[in-house]
Amino acid sequence: MTKSPYDVAVLGGGILGCTVALFLARGGMRVAVIERGALCREASGRNAGGLAIQVKPAALIPYALKSWELWRTTADWLGAEVGFEVRGGLTFAFDEAEAEMLESRTKARQAAGAPIEIIGPNRAREIEPGFTGTAALASYCALDAFADSTLTGFAYRGALARAGVAIMENTAATGIDRNGDGFAVNTAGAPIRARRLVLAGGVWLVEMARWLGIDIPIRCAVPSVTVTERMPPIFRAIIGVASGRLTLKQAANGTVLIGGGWQGTGDARHGGLDVISENLIGNLRLAHHVIPGLAQARVARTWLGLEAHAPDSMPLVGPLPGIGNAFVIGCVWGGFSHGPLVGRMLADEILGREPEMPLFDPRRLFRNDPPDTG
Ligand SMILES: Cc1cc2nc3c(=O)[nH]c(=O)nc-3n(C[C@H](O)[C@H](O)[C@H](O)COP(=O)(O)OP(=O)(O)OC[C@H]3O[C@@H](n4cnc5c(N)ncnc54)[C@H](O)[C@@H]3O)c2cc1C
Repeated sequence: MTKSPYDVAVLGGGILGCTVALFLARGGMRVAVIERGALCREASGRNAGGLAIQVKPAALIPYALKSWELWRTTADWLGAEVGFEVRGGLTFAFDEAEAEMLESRTKARQAAGAPIEIIGPNRAREIEPGFTGTAALASYCALDAFADSTLTGFAYRGALARAGVAIMENTAATGIDRNGDGFAVNTAGAPIRARRLVLAGGVWLVEMARWLGIDIPIRCAVPSVTVTERMPPIFRAIIGVASGRLTLKQAANGTVLIGGGWQGTGDARHGGLDVISENLIGNLRLAHHVIPGLAQARVARTWLGLEAHAPDSMPLVGPLPGIGNAFVIGCVWGGFSHGPLVGRMLADEILGREPEMPLFDPRRLFRNDPPDTG
């Protein structure tokens, strides 16, 4: 039998797949990234670029802090700048119930190591003069940052090429066969053979896992992001609200990015289809309420992306149950923020090194592991 040409085939070239591939190649493995379109053009290139520590669930704070450091130093390990900017972040609570929620959530996140303070509205106005309204309470994290997600594909392509990864863009995987030597990934061209597999298909993980006889219960969300035309400087901090329904940042070029998870329509089969106008209006109203200077903002574009969530909202990062040498990485809450760290951790696991923090074992979702037929 001929030897597999690759040690690892990574299916999906979003930020998670690209990061795993990069660190595997740097660890000495022969790696192929098989990507249906172009690198980091789905969720990883459509997201709002938010790297806010304070919005991460307490369980993920230690990961967010380490990944923040990787974002700060992309020039060193990725060989490129990707628009990383620390602006500090403010989250506003407008009534007592929200204030209570914000305080108890902040306590849990502080206990997990996040440098967040609870502040009053006057202090919030000092930090962010663009906030001229009233609020019951706010939380502030000086580390909150963002990067430009549209630059990540370009940056990763360069780093992967320099690391010797075979980058197969415009190559859709259509199925997976198992053979004695590992796996054959079917494509429109010749099958791509590898000893190990990493499934990194975002919301398309469901389809990929089915090729191996596994049902991964993933929910597909369809969040939107809106960008305004360029405006004079109106605010500097990264703004959010306690309900989580708003993220707001003004880029150096004057455009304002407005997000917060407001949903459009679409699914993994059809992609992001349509903006729901009431949701768009709700998102814009909330933005205007918090930063009144946005009254004159003109929307340039709204787009949708697809985001995968596991039933327990925790990441899936580790071995696929019952299939030797096959791994999965996905459903990472704030996957843009955490991508560099969790991708490197999975690469360490595959390279036989101890990951620096615990992985998120996908087997928790399966009551009975499927039998290993390999
Ligand atoms: C609108 C929006 C806003 C967001 N905002 C933020 C934010 O501000 N901060 C933050 O931290 N996170 C944010 N996220 C979440 C973050 O973007 C995702 O968690 C992360 O990008 C997921 O990365 P991924 O590599 O798993 O998936 P993806 O980037 O979706 O990559 C999966 C890849 O698999 C490829 N693929 C699928 N099927 C096949 C096939 N058959 N063959 C080959 N390739 C295939 C796809 O083409 C795709 O490139 C946001 C997400 C969205 C959608």
